[in-house]
Amino acid sequence: MADASLNPYLRAQQAFKEAVDTLGLEPGVYELLKQPLRFYEVAVPFIRDDGTLQVFPGYRSHHNDALGPTKGGLRFHPDVNADEVKALSMWMTVKCALLGLPYGGGKGGIACDPEQLSEHELERLSREYIRGIALVIGPDKDIPAPDVSTNPQIMAWMVDEYSRIRGENSFGMITGKPLVIGGSQGRLEATGRGLVSAVREMARQVNLDFAKSRVAIQGFGNVGSVAAATAHDMGARVVAVSDKEGGIYNADGLDVPGVLAYKQVHRNVVGFPGAEPVSNHDLLELPCDILLPAALENVITADNADRIQARIVGEGANGPTTPEADQILFEKGVLVVPDILANAGGVTVSYFEWVQNQSRWYWTEAEVDERLHQMMGAAIEAMHEMHERYGVSHRRAAYLVAVDRIASAMRVRGWLK
Ligand code: NAD
Repeated sequence: MADASLNPYLRAQQAFKEAVDTLGLEPGVYELLKQPLRFYEVAVPFIRDDGTLQVFPGYRSHHNDALGPTKGGLRFHPDVNADEVKALSMWMTVKCALLGLPYGGGKGGIACDPEQLSEHELERLSREYIRGIALVIGPDKDIPAPDVSTNPQIMAWMVDEYSRIRGENSFGMITGKPLVIGGSQGRLEATGRGLVSAVREMARQVNLDFAKSRVAIQGFGNVGSVAAATAHDMGARVVAVSDKEGGIYNADGLDVPGVLAYKQVHRNVVGFPGAEPVSNHDLLELPCDILLPAALENVITADNADRIQARIVGEGANGPTTPEADQILFEKGVLVVPDILANAGGVTVSYFEWVQNQSRWYWTEAEVDERLHQMMGAAIEAMHEMHERYGVSHRRAAYLVAVDRIASAMRVRGWLK
């Protein structure tokens, strides 16, 4: 097999292969999991504000639907390509199975630069994309959600377009919607809160009291800022946070509500009074108990893994640790809470949103938070059990839980013979 670390698709395939081999499953399981069951490529034409026609490539991947309809976000970014979308849909299969959600993995996107589009252009593009894939999505087929550069407003245009095509309101066809048209309480906060919930549970295993710990967070966007506020509310000392422009550090703990208010005004955390500046690079190596990379992929590498001082790394971002760095951290005894668990709060509350849409019965924020905490706890227990049984890292253990469940579903459905 080629060097899997270079290509996310090969990396996803390798992880499935390892899990199938470790569990001693029939080879057919890997044959079915090594690529999406269905992959759609659509031309997305739309009219620019100046009246010209432009066409962007769009994609939607249904990796595996043995456990239920496929589910996964939509990404608008110039780098979106077929292999990336396929790999992300494979990770969604694992995430949904690990969390015990009745979903398979999906993902989609448009290769475009949303910063170059006006609001009206973005709306036309979003609606055209839905027209292009309308036949292959739906509340019982494939349910998109926001991802990089897509947001509740875009979900609102998409649910409206789909509902027009169907001739009926179909709120359950997409999640991450605004509250007023069937969104869920707690959806925006879900990933950051789920991250803290998972890390706090795992901290117990290394006898670390989360409420007394020092936490450094790279990224102060949706995930990082909610994680910081949640950790602060639980009594932890948040010693560092950062944005793209740079970070801030205070060994005694930052005034997190103050940093949140400062960012509202200044758009990033740089220059916050009562803290010293720190680069995004150095932030990762600060003295702390818990490090939460919540910005970008591939920031912990073979070059810096050895200098990480945290006892726990909680992966808020997708893929922040390279496979080489993962191995170094494992050997150093650093507990890595893998992304497929650590940032699964978003898809879990998306599932709650879909359940609420299907039942037309809406929950309070406290109900959402309690159920999120329960589901993260159950996933951690299952992962920990595999970790103990096979003596593998938590990331590999998470794959074992997921692949075992997906294989069972494929087996009883008769796909393996
Ligand atoms: P966001 O855009 O709200 O915030 C991103 C943060 O990262 C910002 O603070 C930004 O300044 C910082 N950043 C951007 N480029 C950077 C750079 N080059 N160096 C350092 N910092 C940089 O995004 P988000 O929704 O918080 O997502 C963060 C990560 O979490 C991504 O990897 C995303 O895929 C993952 N994730 C998000 C969700 C979700 O529900 N939002 C769910 C699962 C995974």
